[in-house]
Amino acid sequence: MQLEHPVLARALQPLAHTETEVPVVDPARGEAFAWVPRVTPEEVAAAIAEAARAQPAWGRATWAERAAVLARLARLMSDAAEDLARLITLEEGKPLAEARAEIAYARSFVEYYAGMGGTEIGHVLASPFPDTEVRTELEPLGVTAAITPWNFPSAMITRKLAPALLGGNAFLLKPAEATPLSALALSALAHEAGLPRGLFHVLTGGRNDAAAIGGALTSSPVVKKLSFTGSTTVGKLLLAQCADTVKRVTLELGGNAPFLVFDDADLDAAVAGLLVAKFRNTGQSCVAAQRVYVHASIFDRFVDALAERVARLETGPGLDPKNHIGPLIDARAVDKVEGHVEDAREKGARVLVGGTRIEGRGSFYAPTLLVDFSKDARLAAEETFGPVLAVRRFSDEAEVIAEANATRAGLVAYFYSESARRIARVSRGLEFGMVGVNTGLVSTAVAPFGGIKESGLGREGAREGLYDWTRLKYVCARYQEP
Ligand code: NAP
Repeated sequence: MQLEHPVLARALQPLAHTETEVPVVDPARGEAFAWVPRVTPEEVAAAIAEAARAQPAWGRATWAERAAVLARLARLMSDAAEDLARLITLEEGKPLAEARAEIAYARSFVEYYAGMGGTEIGHVLASPFPDTEVRTELEPLGVTAAITPWNFPSAMITRKLAPALLGGNAFLLKPAEATPLSALALSALAHEAGLPRGLFHVLTGGRNDAAAIGGALTSSPVVKKLSFTGSTTVGKLLLAQCADTVKRVTLELGGNAPFLVFDDADLDAAVAGLLVAKFRNTGQSCVAAQRVYVHASIFDRFVDALAERVARLETGPGLDPKNHIGPLIDARAVDKVEGHVEDAREKGARVLVGGTRIEGRGSFYAPTLLVDFSKDARLAAEETFGPVLAVRRFSDEAEVIAEANATRAGLVAYFYSESARRIARVSRGLEFGMVGVNTGLVSTAVAPFGGIKESGLGREGAREGLYDWTRLKYVCARYQEP
């Protein structure tokens, strides 16, 4: 782990030599290269108490002062971008070019909320009462908590951290076991940017510590909000745990994205968009295209073009610039992908490209294209979270919309069409929180990201993201002359 930026070198370099507690494993080699502390529930309680002491002063700081810290953090992220990207590739595995793109995306949330500053602090409303001001104000929630996944180790943090800090809150973060270094790096940079001590704690631990750390956060009456990004199963558990103290809860959970290609689509654009929507981060993304439906009249042409492109994808360690596809996060992830492909095969799918794990060091699975998967295949209902493109044909618009919607998830759907009428009709018909039309990439800091149905609650990014990290107070103030 070679770090150039002095702040990161000081904070993280020693972790490469401690060889105690929780190992951080490079999934391309299957070997530990750093070790982080195992935080106990008592230490979580101490962090909550420290955050509660630090938060009131931060909550009273002006919006401009808080925004200035974010602006400095964004600049530091820019200065340290190469180190931050390499850390992502080392602990998560994605190709370095994608890791650089993730850092730019992660920084965009910090910049966005820094830029928002105090422009969104409430409204004065047209009062129906004489001599009375009717207004709303955004106030800090207080001490808040976040639990994040490993697949976007930096962006899934800043999407929460930036609005949390702008809103005047303290922020306790439990990162995923697999990717604590990006979290510790952001904490070091935030403090270098002038964030007062006590407002940003990183609570690291192994997979077996997650329930205890999470439980210490969800059971505390001092913690006013939990924002979770991760699997639907864990999200439901945490939602139930937060009921007792009636916390504000934001959940960004699993998706099961359909990707529809109509007969009036620009096929080259659809192939290119699908490759982005599927293979970004080796398919380990909540917004990954999971089920691809292609109109029967263009099916063969589309699949031929796709097969040719998928066969050209290079797989290997993310630090080698020739590779488009990195390792999966661990051996369990490879087993899951293999299970989905075998199940689809047994139920009638044909494998046109790939379809095998790659033996040797690290956790690799070959980029795979399978066609004519059955409606009852496991991959029709569950996220595969791997580099597997599963394609099926359709012939009727209403039927394919119904099939696309036949899932308990509702995060994102994509479709390609050149017809304005169809675009309006299909966008309305798809029951998802986000719809990508003629694009395979919808994520941006300026738009509200989030799902419906079992994909989650609340929104991240945009002004809605700030509303989720503040509470709205309504003040009705009468100023009657004596
Ligand atoms: P996960 O197993 O749910 O883990 C997410 C986080 O929750 C990790 O920090 C994990 O810690 C922690 N955790 C696990 N069990 C816990 C418990 N009982 N109490 C408290 N915390 C607990 O999910 P994942 O495998 O890391 O991430 C993949 C999932 O995230 C996919 O379903 C994906 O779709 C979803 N995701 C959604 C979005 C979105 O914005 N909608 C974005 C990215 C990912 P450990 O790592 O230590 O186990």
